[in-house]
Amino acid sequence: MKRNLLIIVSLGLLFPACDSPFRTQKTAVPQQSLQIPTQEHSIQAVNWQQQAAEYRALCLQAYNFARLRLDAMLDTTKMDVKKLAIVTDLDETAVDNSPFNAKMIELDEAYQKSRWIEWGNEVSAKAVPGAVEFLKYAASQGVEIFYISNRYPEQLQVTIENLDKLDFPFSDEAHVMLRNQSSGKLERREKVEETHTIIMLLGDNLADFTDLFEKQNSGRRHALVDSLAAEFGSRFIVLPNVMYGDWQTNGIYEGRYDWTESQRDSIRHKKLISY
Ligand SMILES: [Mg+2]
Repeated sequence: MKRNLLIIVSLGLLFPACDSPFRTQKTAVPQQSLQIPTQEHSIQAVNWQQQAAEYRALCLQAYNFARLRLDAMLDTTKMDVKKLAIVTDLDETAVDNSPFNAKMIELDEAYQKSRWIEWGNEVSAKAVPGAVEFLKYAASQGVEIFYISNRYPEQLQVTIENLDKLDFPFSDEAHVMLRNQSSGKLERREKVEETHTIIMLLGDNLADFTDLFEKQNSGRRHALVDSLAAEFGSRFIVLPNVMYGDWQTNGIYEGRYDWTESQRDSIRHKKLISY
């Protein structure tokens, strides 16, 4: 009996790729028992936003370009009955929330609203490079700034406080428009358009520009970007965000929020395009 067992063990070691009871046992480990740190995958992205001078340069490039576009538009746009407005997103467009993402890594926890509120209450978000300077310049040219953000309604006062602290123009209740019933921004843009002509939109997420991008998968998002190619660097100014966004939730994770950590890990690997 002992001898037979020894032979089986030896065969298993010699031919590890063959189907054997030992191999079956190994692959039968339930997926959920694999310990995958919740935020391990985002360490590189958060480091990039916080440490890469290229991130800073890209933001400055976006805002320098926005200024060139604004000057060109002000030269050619006839002042009609409506006032001119720029609509900007807040998070990862005007303010940098990377310390919040770093905290999730430190605590190895998934996104949770209470942690996000806690971070907002710190009132310590820094400005995205170039954002304050550009928006102040636009304001000096008679353009009103509207901040359309999906922060929660209860964050209004701390958000205004943070913007004020950073010297952003128009940081008041009339210009800071946080999420209402839905996270879609169309309704809020239409509200601005009742009294203003929106000449430029700034954002890190494609849904910051038009509702066409709401809840679309990666293929559709790519096709829409191609169909709107002329708008980017013209009326739409895009800021980089590799930490999070619809590219991840609707793109990589296909709009589903109920994947397990190990499924998310597996999806991230499956979505890679190799050769
Ligand atoms: Mg954003």
